[in-house]
Amino acid sequence: MSTDYKNIFCSYNLFAFKDSKLQEKFNEWRRPSRLKHISAISILTASLYLIFSYITRSFIPADILPLATLVHVYLVPFILLLIALLAHFRVRYYLMTFLLVIAPIIASVGNMIIISKFDGYTTYQTELYLIIFWVFTVSGLKFIHALISGLFIYVSATISAYAIYPLNTEAFVLHHFWMIASLSFGILGGYLLESSQKTIFLKKEELEKIAITDRLTGLYNRVMFDKVISDELEKSKRYKRTFGLIMLDIDFFKDINDTYGHLVGDDVLIEFTNILKRHTRSSDTIIRWGGEEFIILSLEVNKEALMTLAEHIRKQVQEHDFKTVGKKTVSLGLTLNKKTDNINSILQRADQALYLSKNSGRNKTNFLA
Ligand code: GH3
Ligand code: MG
Ligand code: MG
Repeated sequence: MSTDYKNIFCSYNLFAFKDSKLQEKFNEWRRPSRLKHISAISILTASLYLIFSYITRSFIPADILPLATLVHVYLVPFILLLIALLAHFRVRYYLMTFLLVIAPIIASVGNMIIISKFDGYTTYQTELYLIIFWVFTVSGLKFIHALISGLFIYVSATISAYAIYPLNTEAFVLHHFWMIASLSFGILGGYLLESSQKTIFLKKEELEKIAITDRLTGLYNRVMFDKVISDELEKSKRYKRTFGLIMLDIDFFKDINDTYGHLVGDDVLIEFTNILKRHTRSSDTIIRWGGEEFIILSLEVNKEALMTLAEHIRKQVQEHDFKTVGKKTVSLGLTLNKKTDNINSILQRADQALYLSKNSGRNKTNFLA
């Protein structure tokens, strides 16, 4: 288990998990909280733009005011509010991501055009540094998208500072320095944020796995059984599907512990598990129900198919030579689901069927309808 975890842990690069299914699961896991975050941050940013426009309305030269108003009052807040709505109602995810990538680009290009038209640019450039920082650390963008947006802003701001509104040497050098500082803080912050999310996700995956796995055999445990059987009962009602349960109990298992000790008993349980794995289909779910009791949940079967599977397993166990202890046998109880079943009723029937097998001399298979 922990080895698995370590393998997964090493398996992501700068942008994504190497395993695309894991990446998809990670995306799905963090999407709800990201959307809430994006919706809140977009509203906050739109409000700050409106406040910014209000307090700067008297500083900006009258001929640039219409342009500044267009960018800071209409364009950027409008896009941000649209993003907030899409995120809030969880619709048009790709459109929302696209808008979130281009909103800061539009804001920066707007800023560059506005400040190229008057000599107040040294004070107004601060917006660019903030935008870069916003993109990486607060926007809610994935690191890869933040990088696209951030680098675009950096490159275009550098070109404009050089070609469109030539700054004096001191301002140019400092502007460069602040741009590089915000970009590097932004990239580092964005990367660390995303890797810590990945670490939390992997820990969660690991804990979930531990919670549903039996430590000795690596099979699913009761927690998983409850989930699988509830799902199947639900599905069987909706789609009129049948599934079968096989309850298995190793015969005279206590003798193994008494004669050879617990460790040998554990080895027998592992060997027994391997027999079950070898002789079931991948669509069958095997559960360690308790000590030496197991359950197989087999989908889309009728009585005959279930009996065939159970008898096959019984014979395989009977013929197997277990290390140290030699021959062992198993008793099985079978049942199929009914319309009126709940978890307890179906388990009870399988248990009664198993009881019949035990009572009629063990190493038997019994079915109860
Ligand atoms: P029967 O044929 O009636 O099933 O007899 P049995 O001896 O198999 O039945 P019983 O339920 O009395 O004994 C089961 C034993 O399994 C008791 C318990 O000590 C042992 N056991 C339960 N879990 C483990 C385990 O993880 N490892 C080992 N070695 N033994 C276990
Ligand atoms: Mg038992
Ligand atoms: Mg037993």
